[in-house]
Amino acid sequence: MVMHAEDIGRAVGLRGQLGELCYSSGLLQSVQRVRSWWHRDLRILAYHRVLPLPDPATYEFDLELISTPPDQFREQMLLLRQRFHPMRLGDVAAAIEAGRPLPRDAVVVTFDDGYDDNYHVVFPILRELGIPATFFVSTGHIDSGRPYAYDWLVHMILLTGASQLQLPELGMDVPLPPDRAGRRAIAGNVLFRMKELGALAQAALIERLENEWAMPSDSAPPDCRPMTWDQLREIHAAGFEIGSHGVHHWMLAKLPQAELEAEVCQSRDALERELGPAPLLMSYPVGSGRAFDQRVIDTTRDAGYALACSYISGTNAQPASNPYALYRLAVERNMGKGWFAAMLTMPHLMSYPTPNHVNVQDGSPACSH
Ligand SMILES: [Zn+2]
Repeated sequence: MVMHAEDIGRAVGLRGQLGELCYSSGLLQSVQRVRSWWHRDLRILAYHRVLPLPDPATYEFDLELISTPPDQFREQMLLLRQRFHPMRLGDVAAAIEAGRPLPRDAVVVTFDDGYDDNYHVVFPILRELGIPATFFVSTGHIDSGRPYAYDWLVHMILLTGASQLQLPELGMDVPLPPDRAGRRAIAGNVLFRMKELGALAQAALIERLENEWAMPSDSAPPDCRPMTWDQLREIHAAGFEIGSHGVHHWMLAKLPQAELEAEVCQSRDALERELGPAPLLMSYPVGSGRAFDQRVIDTTRDAGYALACSYISGTNAQPASNPYALYRLAVERNMGKGWFAAMLTMPHLMSYPTPNHVNVQDGSPACSH
């Protein structure tokens, strides 16, 4: 089944309303208690950025990367602390390795990419509340300080003075409207379609636009900045985990073998060089069914990683059965307090609907960045 944008919109609206209803009924806690008796699954939450929600009419980057505003994030973490069992991903890996069951209502909090709001906004809240978390970073961006390429592509499409977007690689040649909403829709379409290309062809497309439009990513403004190694060292020293999200944030399944191995091994080496030895954890960039496959899983395992997260929506009833393709639950910015609580309590009913998730029968890839 292919879900169209308006169907997704309706599904989002329905889940949001249903979530708020469940939450305000006060029944969630009882449902959780009953469910945890018969269903002991690991929930892994997936976040990107935590920022105050900007005005879409003026914001110059990809809105989809904002998972939740800071006050709501704090409430979400309080809920985890009160009603769930937050765990470190490294402890999950150790339990899988030892064949130990996980505690009831185990939850892991993860962040992809490594934006610097993770340091400025997320880190203080987690530290204050004592919630463990894993930050998956693309090490090449930490080294260079350059913005993440997909986000920069959206930025360029939103702001370019060009009146036409010509992408022969995607068979696209469309006028760029003056309004930002129209451009956002086009950028979203480009992001979706370009993920069919090889990873190096994607990088070449973005670099070509940087040159043609004279918008080099090293001129990026500060609000799309990745964290620095010094910030990551501070987070790591405070007990949080830092994992690999590749070097260049390339879709690993879309790379030739040599480049795939380089992404997996060089990011591992950079983390060890900068932060010292730790359990090796991976989150595949983009993370959908198009972004990793058995070859990627084998390469990741052979490089010494203890486990890996996908961006496919779901929970893990038996994490030992898929330690290199763990499902996660995406947190999205339109998810109110009730919906979030209901998703944690009834993840199979209330997780975020995404086009890919409902599109693909075998393995249900979710969306993403
Ligand atoms: Zn990512």
